[in-house]
Amino acid sequence: MQSILMVIGVFVFGLMIGSFLNVVIYRIPNGESIAFPASHCQSCHTPLKWYHNIPLLSWLVLGGKCAFCKAPISRQYPLVELITGLLLVMLYFKLGLVWYLPFVFASFAALFALVMIDFKYYAVPDSVNFFALAMALVQPDFLQAGINAALAALSLFLLGKGVSVIAKKEAMGSADVIVAGTMAALLGFPNFFVALFLAAILAIIPSLLAKDTMVPFVPFLALGTFIVYLFDEQTAALLQWIIYG
Ligand SMILES: [Zn+2]
Repeated sequence: MQSILMVIGVFVFGLMIGSFLNVVIYRIPNGESIAFPASHCQSCHTPLKWYHNIPLLSWLVLGGKCAFCKAPISRQYPLVELITGLLLVMLYFKLGLVWYLPFVFASFAALFALVMIDFKYYAVPDSVNFFALAMALVQPDFLQAGINAALAALSLFLLGKGVSVIAKKEAMGSADVIVAGTMAALLGFPNFFVALFLAAILAIIPSLLAKDTMVPFVPFLALGTFIVYLFDEQTAALLQWIIYG
């Protein structure tokens, strides 16, 4: 019973952070403050009452419409809240209540915000990107995490430079280099490469479906990282099997 209450508590906390992520996703790309003004309707700009701002529930109770002007409220709000809540629950199941759980969660939550911003605006803001990296470095073996991050970022930077010289165009953005640092800090080696490989495979599908449009890569990096993070033991066993049979 106690453990169910714990999971519910963890989920609700995740929902609240998801609510905050919505603010980040909407305001950071527009250069707005994430603290002021208070939440308001995007359509009629009426400030929301606290009970209009309850994650998931308010959207459901209001039927996805503004309480004042009845303008539709994007499904993105409850969706981001729900995914963030589940994100925290999965990390809680993976790690338990360790002291660095909030930092790992903050890193993945920031990556998730980056994913949404990349989808919506084709942009990857440095502030959110560096926040994800900083949070990924807060863990028991922070020295190793820092070395891993530096190694991954440097090798991706050099790889990008090399490809750019050969292809005669910019191959890798600085944003990808920072994301690589976050990935390596969270995963270590060789799992960093597994996540990179997984991201490349996942990215092929939409690239084939939408030949002309640019497919943002950060979402696949983030997804690959999360999957390998959750299944790190299975990944290690799989690598063992591939290398040693
Ligand atoms: Zn409104």
